[in-house]
Order: sequence, then structure tokens, then C-alpha cells
Amino acid sequence: MKPERCENTGVPYLDHAATTPMRPEVWEAMAPFAHELFGNASGAHRYARQAKNAYEEARERAAAVLGCGAREIVFTSGGTEADNLAIKGRALREGRGGIVISQVEHEAVIEAAEFCERLGSPVYAVAVDPQGRVDPTQVSAHVNDDTAVVSVMAANNETGVIQPVREIVDAVAGRAPVHTDAVQAFNSTDVNVEALGVDMLSLSAHKFGGPKGVGLLYVRDGLSLEAVIHGGGQELGRRSGTSNVMGAVGMVVAMELAAADRTGFQRRVGEARDRFVQGLAGVATPTIEKVDVLASHAHLRFPGVRNESLLIRLDRDGLAVSVGSACASGAATVSHVLTAMGVAPEAARESLRFSFGWTNQAEDGDEAARVVLAALDR
Ligand code: PLP
Repeated sequence: MKPERCENTGVPYLDHAATTPMRPEVWEAMAPFAHELFGNASGAHRYARQAKNAYEEARERAAAVLGCGAREIVFTSGGTEADNLAIKGRALREGRGGIVISQVEHEAVIEAAEFCERLGSPVYAVAVDPQGRVDPTQVSAHVNDDTAVVSVMAANNETGVIQPVREIVDAVAGRAPVHTDAVQAFNSTDVNVEALGVDMLSLSAHKFGGPKGVGLLYVRDGLSLEAVIHGGGQELGRRSGTSNVMGAVGMVVAMELAAADRTGFQRRVGEARDRFVQGLAGVATPTIEKVDVLASHAHLRFPGVRNESLLIRLDRDGLAVSVGSACASGAATVSHVLTAMGVAPEAARESLRFSFGWTNQAEDGDEAARVVLAALDR
């Protein structure tokens, strides 16, 4: 049985937005770094040089995929750290500089901004429309001389809604650096820093077939950041810590494979997603209908059905999906993303996120829809 199918029922995995299985080519590229190429890239001997060469080659290849220079890549421990470095690094460097984000950002951005707010940074979170889209003019209206960073995600992790990042960059017009969290967008949209026009961009390898615990922050040449993690001064002083050579090597292979397959991904994965949504037409309604959504995401409401009980039933049948709301200390809280969109709490509690990915074929959409229909029948 393939790992991306349930070992008991053979049902395909549909929680790729949470994480993806590693692509075989990625593991193949990484394996030598667990054994013969184990050196610390910061040393001064042959073991170190081998590691350093591989690490710097990974940096160059990552830069080539993103359309930037190698020096502009800071490897991190993942998307969370990249987001934290972008927000805190800018706000601290500018001495309590202002932060403009959207209300639907990932917690890594929101919590980092709130931390800076406690240290004195003014923070403004721009509202979204009922489809979850940020209005570039609203972002621009809140930028002033004290703004240290603007951060709006390329696509939302819960709904898959694609944000108008280029338009936001144009509206801000160089008055403040713009960061985008492209963690979810990388699989199916053209993530090129010049085309997007952004000054900083976060990625996380495990969302596109790479290993967990590695990511990167693109930082435009000349943009100054305060380090958040201090120590040995790696990553040109922007992020200390022994270089994760194995992780970076795996990440860049996953980046290259994902970037080369974007058209195929959109077709294959988009078809699986569409067939899934069509298969559930009578029982579920899409949360987003009027704006562009990633090919991978389907956020559906099942009227009259509690999402948590459906999730448990689906898990029993081997179908892994996610609830849009998280359960904190026993109290069911509704997702901040849906709340910002004006979705009523009752509707939010009837909604689930299904996310397709590189392991899925078009037929998986039909199969998964049958599993959901059978679970609803019981
Ligand atoms: N940003 C977005 C949009 C995400 O979906 C995630 C992961 O869920 C992250 C950031 C955090 O990435 P990581 O898991 O690498 O810390």
C-alpha cells in the first residue's frame, strides 16, 4: 500500500495543506547527508567543505527557482520561523516599526505581529471581503512613514483563496517592504519574487513533498533585518544555528520538482478537487465561489452536520481531512479566517477543509466523494 493511502481502507490522503509525504527523489538526495556527508558546514576541514558546498549549491538552486540571488536566501526551520523573521526582524530593526497584516494571515504572522505590538509596534490588521480577499487599497491606506513591514499571504491555508499580492505591492509603491507567506501557494502558482514584486517571501518544504523542519525566507538584497535567533552568525548573521544541510538539499529538490510540475499539478489535482466537489454537490456547498482558489483546496460546508463528528467518521474510514476551527483547552473556537470573512459560527462548525496534493490523481476525487457520501448516509 502506498503511504499516502490509508493502510486499512486504501482511501487517498486529503490533508496535503497540513503536510505532504516526501517525494522519493527528495529522500534519495538527502540520504547521503545522514551518513558519509555529515559534516558541519561551518568547519574548516574536508568534511565541512563537502557539507558547505552542498549547502551553498542548494541555496543557489533555491534562488534559481524563485528568481533571486543566492545571498537573498535565508534557510530557516520552516514557514513559522521564516514568518517570524520577516515580521520581528523588520519591526525590531526599525525600532518598534509599524506592521500591516491581513486578518486572515497564518498564526505565525499574527502571533509574531502581536508579540511586536507588546514591544510597542503599532499593528493594523486589514479586513477581508466575504470571499476572504484583501483589498490592496485598504492595505495601502494603512501604510505610513513608520511602517516597517506589510505582510499579506499569497494564498490562505484554510480556504485556498489567492490574494492579489502583485496589486498590493503596486499599491504600497515602495513606501514599506512587502512580505508574503507563500507556504501554501508554492505548489500551484508561479512563485517568482520579481513577478510578485515582494521584498520577502516565506516557504516551507513539507508542504510540497520536502522534509519537515526546513524552510526559507527570501530577503531582497539591501533590506535590513534584525536577527531573531542569535549565535554563531550563520546565514550572513541573519539566522544562527548549525546549517541544516540535509534539509536544504531535500528542500531544493522538492522545490524544483514542484516548480517543474505546476501545470500538471493544476490539471491533475484541480480535476481531482473539482470531481470531489461535484460529487458532493447535493450535500455540501463551497465556502468560496467567486474568487480564485488554489487547485489543491476545497472548503465545504455540510449543512446540518457538525464538522468534528464528520471528521471523526471520515477518519474511521481512512479519509484524513481538517476542521477549519481548532479546539483550544476544550472550548471549540471558530477559525479566525472564517470569522474575518463574516461566516456565522454555526456555518463554520459545519465546514471542513479537504486538500489535495502531489500524491493525488484525478480519480481520487470520485473515490473520496464516495467515502464522504457513505459517511453522511450512516
Ligand atoms: N504559513 C502557512 C500559510 C502555513 O500553512 C503553514 C503551515 O501550516 C505555516 C506558515 C507554517 O509552516 P511550518 O509548518 O513550516 O512551520
